[in-house]
Amino acid sequence: MKISKRISNTKTSATIAMSMKARELIAQGKDIISLSAGEPDFDTPEHIKKAAIESINAGNTKYTPVDGMLDLKKSIIKKFKDENSLDYKADQIIVSTGCKQSIYNLCQATLDDGDEVLIPAPYWVSYPEIVKLSDAKPVFIETNGETNFKVTGKMISDHIGKNTRMILLNSPSNPSGFIYSEDELKDIGRVLKKHPNIIIASDDIYEHIIFNKRKFTNILNVCPNLFNQTVVLNGVSKAYAMTGWRIGYAAGNTDIIGAMKKIQSQSTSCTCSISQSAAKAALDNGKFKVDDMVNEYQSRNEYLHNELNTIDGVEYKKPEGSFYAFVNVDGLIKRIDGIKDDYDLAEYFLMNADVAVVPGTAFGSKNHIRISFATSFENLQEAVERIKKVLI
Ligand code: GLU
Repeated sequence: MKISKRISNTKTSATIAMSMKARELIAQGKDIISLSAGEPDFDTPEHIKKAAIESINAGNTKYTPVDGMLDLKKSIIKKFKDENSLDYKADQIIVSTGCKQSIYNLCQATLDDGDEVLIPAPYWVSYPEIVKLSDAKPVFIETNGETNFKVTGKMISDHIGKNTRMILLNSPSNPSGFIYSEDELKDIGRVLKKHPNIIIASDDIYEHIIFNKRKFTNILNVCPNLFNQTVVLNGVSKAYAMTGWRIGYAAGNTDIIGAMKKIQSQSTSCTCSISQSAAKAALDNGKFKVDDMVNEYQSRNEYLHNELNTIDGVEYKKPEGSFYAFVNVDGLIKRIDGIKDDYDLAEYFLMNADVAVVPGTAFGSKNHIRISFATSFENLQEAVERIKKVLI
């Protein structure tokens, strides 16, 4: 059967592929520890589950407005106001089936054949593929560990061409875990202000997962004059341990949000009514649970940093947020016979140590691996021991 060119040219998500592979091996009876997908190991907090059950019992089981229930939108507006000092109106917000769909809809709504999208590398595996699905072209801006994998205004400026239509910014970053400071965002904002036709897609999904009480800043906090060209993307999956509920949202100017709404009206109609009630409960009253989870991620981060840096051939800077360790394994690849790249190394860990990690090349940075520490402390300890054992 013929498959469209568009899909033939699209890669399967490497993070999802690796976690599926781990699941298959587990189903076959193997004792795999999966450090592949970025999925909180915590259960969704009780009060959120209760809100969903109450929503079902109240008969909230029908289509909602395409762009989300007004009640949920009010909670999102309040969240933006209270947590981010950003002001939005209801028609500047759309609720979608996960932050991933928000990004997908944004690209479909604004990109055409020939348009270019700037993507700092390393990047989340889905960005380039989502861009390509919109017939546009990803243009990568290479970074490295020396600059904590961050881009500067100058680097962006050097990559802007006549077809540049969007830039994807992600802070805290998946996979690097680094965070842009106010000054760094100001520097980026100064460049982008000169290009009002470039959309700034600010993916803030890891906003709450920040260590050592560092402050989260959105580019609009330091450059409010970028409001018209910025779309803020977020969701409840990571902070509230709600990956399976699939609730994301986007905020931006009414033209862009209206175009995204049109796509949704012809694709998903709306997102799940029950999940929307749950997301409202999370946003209205979930912060106390988030803090507990973040404290736990932080101690795992400390542990992993201390342990991994004792391994010969591993270089790993402690991330400032998210739940990912993006580890430079160049030295390891060079010293293990038969391993030529990060794909080989990930396979070696899977087959010999029964530990699943994602190769850095999938994120646009070879000779790295990404380890998700959204797993229990016991699992993490066991995984580190297993990895060390096969490296002796
Ligand atoms: N965003 C998470 C990750 O990077 C979940 C899987 C996915 O959608 O990529 O692992």
